[in-house]
Amino acid sequence: GLADRLQQAMKNIRGKGKVSEADVKQMTREVRLALLEADVNFKVVKSFVKTVEARAVGQDVLKSLTPGQQVIKVVQEELTALMGGEQTKINFALKPPTILLFVGLQGAGKTTSAAKLAQYLRKTHNKKPLMIAADIYRPAAIKQLQTLGAQLKIPVFSMGDKVNPVEIVRQGLAQAAADHHDLILIDTAGRLHIDDNLMEELEQIKTISHPDEIFLVVDAMTGQDAVNVASSFHERLGLTGVIMTKLDGDTRGGAALSIRAVTGTPIKFVGMGEKMDALEPFHPDRMASRILGMGDVLSLIEKAQASFDEDKAREMEKKMRDVSFTLDDFLDQIGQVRNMGPLDDLLAMMPGANKLKGMKNLSIDEKKIDQVEAIIRSMTPSEKNDPEIINASRRKRIALGSGTSIADVNRLLKQFKDMKKMMKQFMGQAKGKKRKNPFN
Ligand code: GDP
Ligand code: MG
Repeated sequence: GLADRLQQAMKNIRGKGKVSEADVKQMTREVRLALLEADVNFKVVKSFVKTVEARAVGQDVLKSLTPGQQVIKVVQEELTALMGGEQTKINFALKPPTILLFVGLQGAGKTTSAAKLAQYLRKTHNKKPLMIAADIYRPAAIKQLQTLGAQLKIPVFSMGDKVNPVEIVRQGLAQAAADHHDLILIDTAGRLHIDDNLMEELEQIKTISHPDEIFLVVDAMTGQDAVNVASSFHERLGLTGVIMTKLDGDTRGGAALSIRAVTGTPIKFVGMGEKMDALEPFHPDRMASRILGMGDVLSLIEKAQASFDEDKAREMEKKMRDVSFTLDDFLDQIGQVRNMGPLDDLLAMMPGANKLKGMKNLSIDEKKIDQVEAIIRSMTPSEKNDPEIINASRRKRIALGSGTSIADVNRLLKQFKDMKKMMKQFMGQAKGKKRKNPFN
């Protein structure tokens, strides 16, 4: 993937005490190939590489005490700039309601994203959302929105599929006013390809609803196509933001990197899965760090805080920081961590996790959690606090007591050890992040 390729390109330069212009050229050549291979727009790549090169061979970088790290810092900063620099927040109406219009091709994730965002803004901004079902063309599109609405307890306005979408929106807005909704999300139809009728309908919906945001929903897996689609929609409708879906999938990542540079429209949210809570605000700097394998510590901690109660999260942070995490804590966290989503996703966010040899051992088979619990419960308090003392005879006793095998006990102890090692790494970098220079 892109991350692997870029990390490889950075590897040679990272630890260097002396970096020459030739080293920089070599690195940017590899970066250029990695970006092109990830389907980043070639014009974007060209100007990106030019900027990085100019900055990297600058006097202050190559003559600094840590030139290799400074060069990587330049790459990280320029990747961040490419994706828009700062996080771009939702534009709420000064006078409610705030109206969000979702547009895009069929299957991009409009309906799913509208429901996800409705729930997200209800939770984070205390909004009272109404969703309007204005896709009358796709079979079962209305039913899909209604099902999601029922699941989230968010009302859906619909008039079946025999009424013109523009009229549906008009009446939906009136209904929202009568029921005092301060957030309206309009789900529209997509096509397999951009066509004129679709654009015209969307223009009419835009004219009567005066949306505060026109979100283009695009599928990250479609690569360069996503960028082309964005350009066409932007020309006709004037987009205010992009929601990029399916970043959890096997995408080459190019679309996330070029869409802002090509269209000038910022990515505001990313979809990270099919579940209703799998939507995240987009942070260019964090994404850049993630791509460069520096991990996304802040997103990880935010995610932890969203699903843990605050005290627990603080406690966990402290324990990770001190690396005083015991097997008891491990057991305690397993339950909570399960609420955060698939464990593999979480591990992927940890710095260096993708480079770790033992990565496979670290991914925890969710079905085996009961077994893990039994093993830990069969340990004495001193064993739990200091697993190093668990010798062969203790392993045998624990296996017997928990109804597992010695191999199972060994595996768990190995996992725990790897996890602690990773935490140490991970908190080291997290601390670095808070200091001025994240690369020391
Ligand atoms: P629409 O035609 O644009 O309204 O697209 P839908 O909202 O119906 O989504 C199409 C499919 O993509 C559905 O199966 C969704 O569950 C799936 N989907 C949407 N967003 C994501 C995402 O972020 N990740 C993954 N893995 N699937 C998604
Ligand atoms: Mg839909």
